[in-house]
Amino acid sequence: DTIGANLDRTVELHPDRDALVEYATDRRWTYARFAADVDAVALGLHARGIRKGDRVGIWAPNCAEWMLVQYATAKLGAILVTINPSYRVHELEFVLNQAGVRTLVSATVFKTSDYAGMVEQVRPRCKALTDVLLIGTPAWEELLRAGRAADPEVLAEIGAGLSADDPINIQYTSGTTGFPKGATLSHHNILNNGYFVGELCGYDEEDRICVPVPFYHCFGMVMGNLAATSHGSCVVIPAPGFDARATLQAAASERCTSLYGVPTMFIAVLNEPSLGSADLSGLRTGIMAGSPCPVEVMKQVIDRLGMGEVTICYGMTETSPVSTQTRADDTLDRRVSTVGTVHPHLEVKVVDPVTGVTVPRGTPGELCTRGYSVMLGYWEEPDKTAEVIDAARWMHTGDLAVMDGDGYVNITGRIKDMVIRGGENVYPREIEEFLYTHPDIVDAQVIGVPDERYGEELMAWVRLRDGAEALTPEALRKFCDGQLARYKIPRYVHIVQEFPMTITGKVRKVQMRAEAVDILG
Ligand code: ATP
Ligand code: MG
Repeated sequence: DTIGANLDRTVELHPDRDALVEYATDRRWTYARFAADVDAVALGLHARGIRKGDRVGIWAPNCAEWMLVQYATAKLGAILVTINPSYRVHELEFVLNQAGVRTLVSATVFKTSDYAGMVEQVRPRCKALTDVLLIGTPAWEELLRAGRAADPEVLAEIGAGLSADDPINIQYTSGTTGFPKGATLSHHNILNNGYFVGELCGYDEEDRICVPVPFYHCFGMVMGNLAATSHGSCVVIPAPGFDARATLQAAASERCTSLYGVPTMFIAVLNEPSLGSADLSGLRTGIMAGSPCPVEVMKQVIDRLGMGEVTICYGMTETSPVSTQTRADDTLDRRVSTVGTVHPHLEVKVVDPVTGVTVPRGTPGELCTRGYSVMLGYWEEPDKTAEVIDAARWMHTGDLAVMDGDGYVNITGRIKDMVIRGGENVYPREIEEFLYTHPDIVDAQVIGVPDERYGEELMAWVRLRDGAEALTPEALRKFCDGQLARYKIPRYVHIVQEFPMTITGKVRKVQMRAEAVDILG
């Protein structure tokens, strides 16, 4: 199916169910109204000249219009280029030119971000960009008006000419390890992935999914929006950007059954003072994903947020994104400490990163994924595509993993983050998990820093609980002594208020390593 055809089916089945709630503004859409607005936006864009294969950019924080544009472009077969709202002029210009964006939908101003002003700055330097539409302005209203007045038959005709294998979305990776790459994804890639995520979460038309993760990323637009619309569930947007308090309030007052987040978001929600007074009794499930999910945090999500069926997903933009997921009926231990087993209709394997040969179960190596979810390729970058997808269509993820005898996968880090200290491979993840058990440590990240003697030395960056006394390197080493092998005990400790982050909430270790060199002089 195409995304448009799939939405039409849900609308037929559940016209009066909620499709979308914007909590901050109390705007609401049933599936019937949502579909009508999607069609209006689609026809409005069509009237402005958008055709199959054209690139339409969207650069805005989460809002209802974002989701309307997602489905409207899918109905036209236009390729939606989802742009990180925290980008600034330089990155925006790069993406608009790299993807050849013709129409850009953006916001006016949000908090300190003057989107409209930044768009005007880059416009003269983006040749393909001929049309800019700002959400909430008269031009946006005009688009809707034109769309409502247009002949709806046009959409049926266009729909008949689309194939599920057409590219539908260019999504840039988070840029955690370097410059973002534009993964080109088809209807088939992301609709199926959203559908199976929804299946594994047990969604139906009763479910209400609280989505504080950004829509520009597959976590929001696939695991959130597409999982919801393929099951008749409702998407609840708590706030335009991530806001722990609004997330809690939205989950409580909208009686959400599911809550999403990267680990840092769940940590913020768990530390939110209003947690005690929030009625979260509707919550049943949810997804933690995007970066290593600490066991402690998972346990607290189950105990304190009542998300008894919470799952962990592992994946990457290039694979639509999810390749493995825990299931509600896995043992508790596996549900908090692994990323689960392979998703339906996909294959995963763990290989020796040098020889490419599959390693025995229990041995660390590089995780590879194959199946319907693997992207068409990086947009106009065949060389980069060939570096990650091999001739047998295996996607080489760059992530280190161990698979046990029953097929449960543990992500032990990224190949690029692995530290080699005095010839020993050190997986920062393992040390981070241990540091979480320290009563004063709220969050911990371990990196390798250059060292003359050992090649690399370990440095722990820690965030301490409010009111905790400064943690000295000696005290931390004492805490690790006898618990971790000596070569895994961090030599340096750096106390921070915050880690350098991507907007998807991932810690940017590349930046930490650069800063560490300055800190250590
Ligand atoms: P870039 O590729 O630009 O450096 P990125 O890899 O962070 O950025 P994404 O595609 O958003 O971009 O993220 C995918 C990566 O996130 C995976 O390759 C993996 O390293 C990490 N990840 C995702 N889910 C999990 C998880 N459950 N546990 C551990 N790591 C995860
Ligand atoms: Mg990546």
